[in-house]
Amino acid sequence: MAAQHAVPAASRPTVAVAGSALVFPVRRIFCVGRNYAEHSREMGATDLKAPPFFFTKPAEAVVASGGVVPFPGRTSDLHHEIELVVALAGAGDVFGYAAGIDLTRRDVQSQMKKEGKPWDTAKGFEHSAPISAIARAADIGHPARGRIWLEVNGRTRQDGDIAEMIWGVPEILAELAAWFEVQAGDLVFTGTPAGVGPLVPGDRVRGGVDGVGTLEVMMGAA
Ligand code: MN
Repeated sequence: MAAQHAVPAASRPTVAVAGSALVFPVRRIFCVGRNYAEHSREMGATDLKAPPFFFTKPAEAVVASGGVVPFPGRTSDLHHEIELVVALAGAGDVFGYAAGIDLTRRDVQSQMKKEGKPWDTAKGFEHSAPISAIARAADIGHPARGRIWLEVNGRTRQDGDIAEMIWGVPEILAELAAWFEVQAGDLVFTGTPAGVGPLVPGDRVRGGVDGVGTLEVMMGAA
């Protein structure tokens, strides 16, 4: 007989699957840092030859398109980062792709970098990963290029192409598998192009990757 839980066990957050009644159960969220040269430059990177790297967010970070993102406390510089997201059916097995936003407490991240401290409070908070429905690779293939964009209240902030990624998706998945036990349900945020910037309560944020998906969220009250 299975042991009973001592406290309630949380159910898995899920993401819609485009053109389907299925939902994708989220296990872990991996993120790639500095995967576009122009963004590395705008972040003030001194070593532009340094390879990209990984950090993580909790599964509870996902927010469905159409939702409201509770505005996080403890920041006065919350940034948007639009990213291509890979949804995995297993190690090296891509189920599909989505567009997602890696919300970042930039002021906190800068401070943590300076002090050599971990990024969890800057990156790994709840509701920090709004995401579109997942388009199945069986339907759209494996996109290697396509416009990636984000607008705030109708004004374009980020405008790039996923072809500009330093590590492409196969390279990211190979590298990820060397560090972690990747499994079905894992999401991988693949890094953001240049143009990141601040959000304030009440902002309407739209973003997408052409041929993959679009999302729209409202930033809630502080
Ligand atoms: Mn990012």
